Amino acid sequence: MLKVFKFGGASIKDVESIKNIGNLIQKFSDERLVIVFSAMGKVTNMLEEVVDSYTLQNGKEVVSLDKVKAFHNTIIKGLFDKEELIFDEINNLFVEIEWMFEEIPHQGYAYNYDQIVSIGEFLSTKIMSSYLNKIGFKNTWVDARDVIKTDNTYRNAKIDWDKTTSLINKHLNHQHCITQGFIGCTSENFTTTLGREGSDFTAAILAYSLDADEVVIWKDVPGMMNADPKYFSEAELFSDISFDEAIELAFF
Ligand code: ASP
Ligand code: MG
Repeated sequence: MLKVFKFGGASIKDVESIKNIGNLIQKFSDERLVIVFSAMGKVTNMLEEVVDSYTLQNGKEVVSLDKVKAFHNTIIKGLFDKEELIFDEINNLFVEIEWMFEEIPHQGYAYNYDQIVSIGEFLSTKIMSSYLNKIGFKNTWVDARDVIKTDNTYRNAKIDWDKTTSLINKHLNHQHCITQGFIGCTSENFTTTLGREGSDFTAAILAYSLDADEVVIWKDVPGMMNADPKYFSEAELFSDISFDEAIELAFF
């Protein structure tokens, strides 16, 4: 049995929710799992602000990036001890962005977007992989750029299915793999992204290529509801629902 799990930003938005997801994942230790994470909380939106400031060269990119740093620092301080390796790993990812700041943006907006915004997924997967290892769920961190091969349509990259399918089978053969949603890579080794909310797509690509038995998109709600409980306190859970009704609800 092979399962592909995907967790979105809302499921890993703070120390408490990450610990909760850690407990949940540990229950599946005996199974072969590939786990996809997107960026934590609202980090993708925060990094979009960084890209905008960098592109406009309005001098606000450092302040915007500081917010992303502070957010992740709070999380790693809550999960790890000071001397652990993760602090350097996270710092190195921010240094990659700071190196970009040293040059004026000479490539197109979409290219810069993908190089900067993708860091959100690298931050989240580094943290989640380390944390899961720490609590005993031994796992292998896989760089999605080694397996998801795309064209160079930045921000909306198209999958090269032949290469991708064979690379996935070559690299994702450990008992527990952790990788980034939303991210791909061109044949020239530049990072691409698959479009906003693209992590579900990554999970589907992996499940299809590995011929997985199950793909589960985990959500931070108890099941399918008639409204978003974040906005409607009276929202009710459906015990069952037909596909047709589900489609109609999703449409509205
Ligand atoms: N982090 C990306 C986004 O917010 C991808 C995803 O969450 O699926 O759009
Ligand atoms: Mg999402």
